[in-house]
Amino acid sequence: MSQEITTALLCLHKEKVSCGECRSCVMIKHGTHPDRLSVQADEGSLIKIDQLREVIKKVENSPKVSKHHVVYIERCETMTTQCANALLKTLEEPKISMFIVLQCNEESKILPTILSRCFIEKPQINRDQLQKFFSKIEQLHPHYKFLKYTHCEQPLLVDDFVKDKRTYELYKTVAQSLWQRNWQPIHVSESLKSYQAHDIIDCYTNCLTSMLAKKSNISERETKLFDVIQDEFELDDSLKISAWQGFKILNTLIDTKSTLSSTVVATGSYLLERTLIDIWNIQRSTHSQ
Ligand SMILES: [Zn+2]
Repeated sequence: MSQEITTALLCLHKEKVSCGECRSCVMIKHGTHPDRLSVQADEGSLIKIDQLREVIKKVENSPKVSKHHVVYIERCETMTTQCANALLKTLEEPKISMFIVLQCNEESKILPTILSRCFIEKPQINRDQLQKFFSKIEQLHPHYKFLKYTHCEQPLLVDDFVKDKRTYELYKTVAQSLWQRNWQPIHVSESLKSYQAHDIIDCYTNCLTSMLAKKSNISERETKLFDVIQDEFELDDSLKISAWQGFKILNTLIDTKSTLSSTVVATGSYLLERTLIDIWNIQRSTHSQ
């Protein structure tokens, strides 16, 4: 969809969607359009400020084929803090001859100050297609069955996750710490240091919500998630946290999430370590404290 928006913005025919035939549309098809500039992270890395600066510099020249430049930023949630701040500055002082198309798979990781300066378009999700997609995932990657419940409306992200075992390992580590008693915050934080803090907190929230749902039987989807996780990672519910402890942990996670949302924190940090210690303490506390 974001590619289509980019093409439509550069199309020389004044139609709402791209014509597919004009010089601009043909050049885009061949990847040779001089006014279409794109920025993306290198494999396993983040988008750096220099990459953004480089394209913004090119935009200072007049467009060659279309009436304006279009800068396409793929997976813009992978920008470094520095890069996100530079983008924000660019958005605050827009150039007339430029559009910026930001594509992302996880809106929650974008700075609210950037989001508030964007027109947001979301793809329409067809229920049938989604169901077929997840059946296929379950068939090809049975160990990733839990994604159907944790990311039921984010097929693009799921498609990314199943390519390796990273997300699997994340869920395994987090579920073990929530289900069982024998874990240490410092070890968990060490083994999760290559993950983004956002992803870790989301994972904790998903697992914990499933525990709370199982206790009170409130949501079928969450309850199923609990069973799938327990099954997949062969966990026995030895810790048996109370609803009171569950909600207290949830509160901690919500606090951490909101702190994270006001700044882009790339990987595990002091904040995460503190959150893990809080969870550990709550698991061992009693109601009277
Ligand atoms: Zn066209």
